[in-house]
Amino acid sequence: MVTQIDRRPVEAPAHPAPIVDPFGREITYLRVSVTDRCDFRCVYCMAEDMTFLPKRDVLSLEELDRLCSAFVARGVRKLRLTGGEPLVRKNIMSLIASLGRHVASGALDELTLTTNGSQLTRYAGELAGHGVRRINVSVDTLDPEKFRAITRWGELDKVLDGIRAAQSAGLHVKINAVALRGVNEGEIEDLVRWTHGEGMDLTLIETMPLGEIGGDRTDQYLPLSLVRERLAARWTLEDIPYKTGGPARYVRIAETGGRLGFITPLTHNFCESCNRVRVTCTGTLFMCLGQEDAADLRAPLRASEGDELLQAAITEAISRKPKGHDFVIDRRQRQPAVSRHMSVTGG
Ligand code: SAM
Repeated sequence: MVTQIDRRPVEAPAHPAPIVDPFGREITYLRVSVTDRCDFRCVYCMAEDMTFLPKRDVLSLEELDRLCSAFVARGVRKLRLTGGEPLVRKNIMSLIASLGRHVASGALDELTLTTNGSQLTRYAGELAGHGVRRINVSVDTLDPEKFRAITRWGELDKVLDGIRAAQSAGLHVKINAVALRGVNEGEIEDLVRWTHGEGMDLTLIETMPLGEIGGDRTDQYLPLSLVRERLAARWTLEDIPYKTGGPARYVRIAETGGRLGFITPLTHNFCESCNRVRVTCTGTLFMCLGQEDAADLRAPLRASEGDELLQAAITEAISRKPKGHDFVIDRRQRQPAVSRHMSVTGG
């Protein structure tokens, strides 16, 4: 049975003021992890034997819709659904269809998602129909065996079919790849050629010390400053001011004509322009990806039908948004900088 979501327009906000943090940064970008579950087990992201949240702790699709809409009412212009894997959540299309009303009304500039691509052949058309125009798909390698080794459970062919389906449906696809020392280190140029050849942007991401993964992260860490240096020895990299609302810094590669982004939480701190917050599927608001401080939005959401308590909790939480994070990957300090996994907060 498909759950029907109430598609009320955004209510006249009880707290119409935009959300501005103590450092004057306006929060216009919300990332929502709609599930902590995933059909892959990427080695840098999860341990193989993850324990997932009991269903009762997870917000219903209706609650997620209300929560997102409360942020839209406060000036959030970009909404990204992530996870876990957002497209494995049951009936996720009903949430996306419902949130699409904010795109149609002009309240949202962008409704988008980050996905591993495994379900895209099934959902690409519907996504496009609900107002999604761009998606990020995570692909760290084009070698099927390596892909299986990194994701533990994934099939590269299925993901590539999904990407083609998304492009055929008219979605702009950006590929995200985590740069992994000794794993895809020798393949970065191939990833650039492939993405740019298919009309896609590529963004490279440094591994971040989030959550126990049952291994040593220092083995995986590959600084993007080094990757950039190597690429620059071969190609002409031209800094460009292109922005997608996220933390990536982009270059254009003259020889391919394509865009390449770098997300460098470790080698270059990007906090000064941070405009985003993250909500987990249990309604926990993290004001910073790299800090433990959080606020529970589920209790105020469930405490009343109106949004006043929820809006007050959002305002209070944002007043605690820190100036930035301080990730360190250090051999001596083997603990992750932040104990929760990326699949909890949503990458
Ligand atoms: N399942 C979706 C996917 O695969 O894109 C969405 C969730 S996933 C957590 C989002 C992104 O975070 C992926 O690109 C993934 O590679 C990245 N990621 C996960 N753990 C990471 C870590 N520790 N450091 C850097 N990136 C990470």
